[in-house]
Amino acid sequence: MNNKPISFEFFPPQTPEGTDKLKAVRQQLAALKPEFFSVTFGAGGSTQERTLEAIRQIHAEGHQAAPHISCVGSTREGIRTLLHTYRDMGIKRIVALRGDMPSGMGSIGEFHYANELVSFIRAETGDHFHIEVAAYPEFHPQARSPRDDLDNFKRKMDAGANSAITQYFYNPDAYFRFVEDCEKLGVTAPIVPGIMPIGKFSQLARFSDACGAEIPRWIRKPLESFGDDSVAVREFGLHVVAELCEKLLAGGAPGLHFYTLNQAALSVEILQRLGYR
Ligand SMILES: Cc1cc2nc3c(=O)[nH]c(=O)nc-3n(C[C@H](O)[C@H](O)[C@H](O)COP(=O)(O)OP(=O)(O)OC[C@H]3O[C@@H](n4cnc5c(N)ncnc54)[C@H](O)[C@@H]3O)c2cc1C
Repeated sequence: MNNKPISFEFFPPQTPEGTDKLKAVRQQLAALKPEFFSVTFGAGGSTQERTLEAIRQIHAEGHQAAPHISCVGSTREGIRTLLHTYRDMGIKRIVALRGDMPSGMGSIGEFHYANELVSFIRAETGDHFHIEVAAYPEFHPQARSPRDDLDNFKRKMDAGANSAITQYFYNPDAYFRFVEDCEKLGVTAPIVPGIMPIGKFSQLARFSDACGAEIPRWIRKPLESFGDDSVAVREFGLHVVAELCEKLLAGGAPGLHFYTLNQAALSVEILQRLGYR
């Protein structure tokens, strides 16, 4: 039976029905005893309030809640207020990101890179929060070079991050190589693989193009060939992702973080196949 820590990521629901549905999803996932549930953060004011609201609910249910905070669309003052709100609520963990600029939005904000945000969180709140940052085993799409990206990742860790969660990937060698390269630079903090279960292929392909995560040909081609056969997509996807997780855990990954897209079924099935109960 596996007992390495697991965590689940949600986006803040936009409607009362979405909120109710997410509550039910959380109940199912809570049975697997995750270390925390995290909630993403958008660039607009209303989506940011929805993150806070979702975090309040998770925290009130007695689970450890980890809000994401991003530089994009945020002011120094706004982030300061949010940090103090979270600290006063008893939140202990934050995922600190740069974020991406939504099209049509003018300026990035007062912080330009995640390392500046990490430094600010430490300066404002000392050691109160466990800070997670993002890592990219297949490199961030805007990085000038792989080496530059690694140096920038180290900059975030040196600024005071405690651990990292990766962008999703389907090639375990990319993860192991990344961890090794980080160790060579002296970064030994836990780097937890981000896992994207495979639901709809068209959606996955869209996400992957945007964030630079590669879908290897041996996965892409069968998925394309299944077309609308959702049962075939599901079975193949479960097999591929469960095997990936198995290799990651066996190779020393410190835990797994699931991008749930606010659904429970695929994550639960994968974790059950890995022996989580
Ligand atoms: C686990 C996880 C959770 C996420 N959650 C969210 C979310 O809630 N909301 C959201 O909007 N997005 C989210 N994202 C997406 C993320 O915001 C984007 O990938 C974004 O493009 C980069 O964010 P970052 O924090 O990695 O940025 P950074 O670490 O700042 O890096 C961004 C780019 O700039 C380069 N860089 C970094 N520092 C410097 C520097 N000092 N000087 C020059 N170049 C530099 C890096 O090499 C990289 O190419 C998430 C991603 C992951 C992996």
